[in-house]
Amino acid sequence: MTKSLNLSLLLLALCMASAQALAAESSAPWSADIDQVRQAAAMIPGPRPLRVNVIKFAESRRPKNFAVKGLPAEPSVQARTAYQIVYADGTVMVDTGMDPATHRFFGRGVEEPYFPDQAARVAHALRSARAILVTHEHGDHIAGLMRSESFNELAPKAVLTHLQLQTLQNEPQIPELRPSPEMAARLRLIDYSDTMAFAPGMALIKAPGHTPGSQMIYVALQSGKELLLAGDVAWHMDGVRLNTGKDAPWIKEPPELMAAELNWLNGLFRSEKNLSIVISHDEEQRREYIAQGILGDGFE
Ligand SMILES: [Zn+2]
Repeated sequence: MTKSLNLSLLLLALCMASAQALAAESSAPWSADIDQVRQAAAMIPGPRPLRVNVIKFAESRRPKNFAVKGLPAEPSVQARTAYQIVYADGTVMVDTGMDPATHRFFGRGVEEPYFPDQAARVAHALRSARAILVTHEHGDHIAGLMRSESFNELAPKAVLTHLQLQTLQNEPQIPELRPSPEMAARLRLIDYSDTMAFAPGMALIKAPGHTPGSQMIYVALQSGKELLLAGDVAWHMDGVRLNTGKDAPWIKEPPELMAAELNWLNGLFRSEKNLSIVISHDEEQRREYIAQGILGDGFE
């Protein structure tokens, strides 16, 4: 078992499955093929993950129409989350939580809930994980790595894309996320064009838009169930259901990329009943998925 995950990490650099041909042929600004994603996730031999756990370490309060344009501007709660993908012999983390100072930055002067015990569990899970990925390079997803006291310990197993690092270096969301050259040199960097096998049952899907380095993470479990950690392509599952984007002009997202990615998720939602799309900030979905056993409640 241990060997299989080791093998997968070794194969990281080697196993790049790409769907460029498809993307190049079409004039779509962005496209992905779920069957190619599944193929990539099956490339690395070994037992697939057993489950995916979620933790909510903080909340933000934003009107619902920020997440889905046209919905009423009624108050709503957004979860700030991190995920733990559990293999029989180790874990892979997706997103890293964040420290209280970064949390306060996001509150913009408004006191928003922060759960120190949960944040501490995320920090502990990062230290015990075999590998760390992020859906994208925004503070609420990556500050738990970049601003961690344990950065030097975490960095060698943190797998960032070149685009994620470039954004952190050249145009970080907040200056506190910018790594020093010494920090950047400690990170493990990858590059891939469209889809990449990462570990048994896991594939990365390049999805620039919300940030230049955004990616979605596909997970096929031993049970046969599939999850797609969609990061911040949408902020609420209603955005996917209605195929409607955010109303958040302060986030600089290329509209044509976002529309193409949202449209893809909408198509998956309608046709792939075995696949659960996981929206990072959707608090209602987090509760539903835990109740349905799709996500485990808390880290182990
Ligand atoms: Zn976010």
